[in-house]
Amino acid sequence: MTSHIQIFDTTLRDGEQTPGVNFSFDERLKIAKQLEKWGVDIIEAGFPASSSGSFKSVEAISKTLTTTAVCGLARCVKKDIDAVYQSTKEAVKPRIHVFLATSPIHRDSKLMMSKEEVLASIKEHVAYATECFDVVQFSPEDATRTELPFLIECVQTAVDAGASVINIPDTVGFSYPTEYGKIFKTLQESIKTNHEVIYSAHCHDDLGLAVANSMSAIENGAKRIEGTLNGIGERAGNTALEEVALGLYVRQDHYGNQTQINLEETKNTSDLIARYAGIRVPRNKAIVGQNAFSHESGIHQDGVLKNPETYEIMTPQLVGVKTTELPLGKLSGKHAFSEKLVALGYDVDAEEQKELFKQFKTIADKKKSVTDRDIHALIQGTEHEQNAIYKVEALQLQFVSNGLQSAVVVIQDKDGNTYQDSSIGTGSIVSVYNAVDRIFNRKTELIDYRIESVTEGTDAQAEVHVQIKIGDQIVTGVGIDHDILLASCKSYVEAHAKYVSNSEVKEGIHS
Ligand SMILES: [Zn+2]
Repeated sequence: MTSHIQIFDTTLRDGEQTPGVNFSFDERLKIAKQLEKWGVDIIEAGFPASSSGSFKSVEAISKTLTTTAVCGLARCVKKDIDAVYQSTKEAVKPRIHVFLATSPIHRDSKLMMSKEEVLASIKEHVAYATECFDVVQFSPEDATRTELPFLIECVQTAVDAGASVINIPDTVGFSYPTEYGKIFKTLQESIKTNHEVIYSAHCHDDLGLAVANSMSAIENGAKRIEGTLNGIGERAGNTALEEVALGLYVRQDHYGNQTQINLEETKNTSDLIARYAGIRVPRNKAIVGQNAFSHESGIHQDGVLKNPETYEIMTPQLVGVKTTELPLGKLSGKHAFSEKLVALGYDVDAEEQKELFKQFKTIADKKKSVTDRDIHALIQGTEHEQNAIYKVEALQLQFVSNGLQSAVVVIQDKDGNTYQDSSIGTGSIVSVYNAVDRIFNRKTELIDYRIESVTEGTDAQAEVHVQIKIGDQIVTGVGIDHDILLASCKSYVEAHAKYVSNSEVKEGIHS
C-alpha cells in the first residue's frame, strides 16, 4: 500500500535566504504559480511580519493560487501570528508555521530563555495560532542539537496545544541519516495524542546529507518533506525537492510512497528558479543538471543506443528534459513560436507574445536556426528589461591613455527621469562600474563577475552575472545583451536597483 508524502516548498522563504537572492514581487508570484503547476502540497510564501514586502507577496500569492496551501512563517510572537493570519486569510488553504529554538546553544546564547520559558511560550503561541488556523505546524528550531528528552517535551507541549504538524529542522545541517531517522521513530513512539500528527523533515545541506536525511525521515514515518528547488537556501542550501520527488518515484519498490508532483514540470520549474535566483544549476547536479542525462563513454553510449535502460534509471522525458529539440527558423510562424513558448513552460499573454515574436524574427534573420536556448535568452532578456527599475539608455567608451578608459553612462528610471555620469578606470568594465557608482552615489565592492554565453556561435548573446556588496548587503544582477559591455553595465545597474527595492525585504530568520 502506498501512502502520500506531502511536499512543502520553502523556496520563497528559506530559499530566499540564499546570500544574494532577492526575488522581486512579480518573480515571487511567478514562482508560486509554477510551484503549483509542479504540484507541491504547500508553499511557504514568506515571513509576513518581517517586512511589508513579504506581507504583500504572501497576500498576493494567497489570492492567486487555486489548489495549493499557502503557509506563512511566524516566531512565537502574537504579532507574527496575526500577520500570517491577515496575509493568508484569502488562500484556499491557509496555513501557519510557528517556530521556536529549543537547543541549549539557542536557549542560552540567542533566546536567553530557560527550558520552562521555552515550553510556556510554545504552549501559549501554538494555542493562539489554533484560534485562527485549522492546521498549525510547529518547528523546534535546531531540533537535531536539542536534548532528545527535552525535544520530546517540546513536541508534546505543541501537540497538546493543538499542533497537527510537527516539523523537525536540522537547522545547521548537523545530523546524519540513521540519527535523524531515529528522532522521527522516537517521537512517534513517545508522543501521546488522540488527534492525527504529521511529522515533517526540514534539512540543510552543510554536510551534503540533506536529501539522505530526508529520505531516512521517510523510512521512519515522516509524511512531509520541506525543501527548495535546486536545493537553494542559506549556506549550503536546503533539501533539493526534485531529488526527493524522483527518489520516491524511481525507488517506489523501497519507499512505497508517492507524491503528487507533476514530474514532467520538474525541469521547467528548476529553470525558472535558477533564472530568478541568478544561481545556475551545476552541470553534474542530479535530475536537473545539464549532464544528468548525457553519456560520454563509448561503452555507455553503445549500451544506451541498444537499450536506454542499460545506463538510465529514468528517462529525461520523465522530468521534462527535451532531448530532441526542434529548432525554429526564419520561416517559423506565430503558431510554431507560441507552441514553443508553451513547451518551454512560459506563460505569456497575447500582448507580450506579439512583442516577443517581433524580436524572435530579428534573431531568426541573423541565425540559421533558433534553438531553445536562444528562446530562453530572448525571454530572459525581455523579462529583465520589463522588470527593470532603471534602464541603461546609453553607454559610451573612449580610450584615454596608458590603458585608461573613460565611460559615460546614462540610465533612466521608470518615470522617465534620466541620470548620467562619467568616470575613468583601468579598463572598460572598471570605468563603466565607476560611472554607475557615481550615479547612485554609493560605495560598492565587486564580489563576483561572470560572463556566460547563453547561446552557441559567434553571434551568441552574453549573460553577465555580478554580485556586489553595498553596506552589509550582498545583491546580484544579471544583464543580457549581444554586447558584453552593455550586458555588464545592465547587470551592475540591476544590482544597484535591487539594493534600493529590497533593502527592507530580506528576512533574517533561520529555521
Ligand atoms: Zn531552514
